[in-house]
Amino acid sequence: MTLAVQIRQHGGPEELQIVDVQVGDPGPGQVRIRHHAVGLNFIDVYHRTGLYPLSMPAGIGMEAAGVIEAVGEGVTHLKVGDRAAYASQPPGSYCEARVMPAKCICRLPDAISFETGAAMMLKGLTAQYLLKKARPVEGLEPGDFVLFHAAAGGVGLIACQWAKALGLRLIGTAGSDAKCQLALANGAAHAINYAKEDFAARVKEITGGKGVKVVYDSVGKDTWDKSLDCLRPFGLMVSFGNASGPVPPLAPGMLGVKGSIYITRQTLFTHISTREATQAMADDLFAVVESGQVKIHIAQRYRLADVQQAHRDLEARKTTGSTILTLP
Ligand code: NDP
Repeated sequence: MTLAVQIRQHGGPEELQIVDVQVGDPGPGQVRIRHHAVGLNFIDVYHRTGLYPLSMPAGIGMEAAGVIEAVGEGVTHLKVGDRAAYASQPPGSYCEARVMPAKCICRLPDAISFETGAAMMLKGLTAQYLLKKARPVEGLEPGDFVLFHAAAGGVGLIACQWAKALGLRLIGTAGSDAKCQLALANGAAHAINYAKEDFAARVKEITGGKGVKVVYDSVGKDTWDKSLDCLRPFGLMVSFGNASGPVPPLAPGMLGVKGSIYITRQTLFTHISTREATQAMADDLFAVVESGQVKIHIAQRYRLADVQQAHRDLEARKTTGSTILTLP
């Protein structure tokens, strides 16, 4: 038997319960992986609350690292004993071991620890596609300004460093002065405490009235309207999350009024729908981490038994950088 976190209904952190489950052998195209560390992500909160509904009972968690224990028929890129890490659907990574599709799992380079692997796959692959694939029509050049909300969070701290490595001038927002300092220390060119400053006015000031080429918005409801005012003409709004609640429906005519802007809503799982795409993006992430240009900050560690507290802290905006669950 193996320990796993399950929910029986959507709700608060108290719904996260540790249960004993039977983990079988992998079928065709699957592997069994024994986790050494598990990554915590804000999407886990959406799954728990039901903003992104799951059928019950449900596992939670989409990121982990560990060792391959068994390999199903047809799997050629992994073998028993390989160190590996993943960001993957379906939810269920908050556990000691599981059987899952092999196509989303990558071998972890020896230089990257299990904890770092667990802390960076979902967040790092997200930063990768945001900065390199969700591009404005005009492209992004070194020196361009971009606005990145929640810049001191898990995805945020990786994006700050990676944007700097790409030569972009990233303006980060965060909910406290300390978080702003953290974003600056990790490569943000400017940081705005959006809890006390009008971020749209500050962005205009920083960019000499021009606005930014791209806004990356994972905060959603609270930042949406003002974010549109930060874009320069033909700029791109990339919506990729809803930490403060979902964005209300919008009328297309508004895009013209705001300066013929573009809006896209992106999800990592479209980008990593094939094994080849997943590996290519992971290779890019591994390279930038191994080069030292992007450091993965694991600022919180919780035991699996303390998973409810981990969710409370994440929702209460008490965390910075990455959070992991450690296993016995
Ligand atoms: P974070 O560590 O960034 O935590 C979320 C942060 O959002 C908080 O720390 C907080 O930072 C900010 N925030 C703003 N308003 C609220 C609010 N009302 N309640 C809670 N938090 C708020 O999480 P992750 O790094 O795991 O994910 C970042 C975002 O990216 C999430 O929205 C997530 O869903 C999204 N995401 C989307 C993906 C995709 O492909 N679409 C993939 C991965 C992540 P502060 O206090 O500084 O405001």
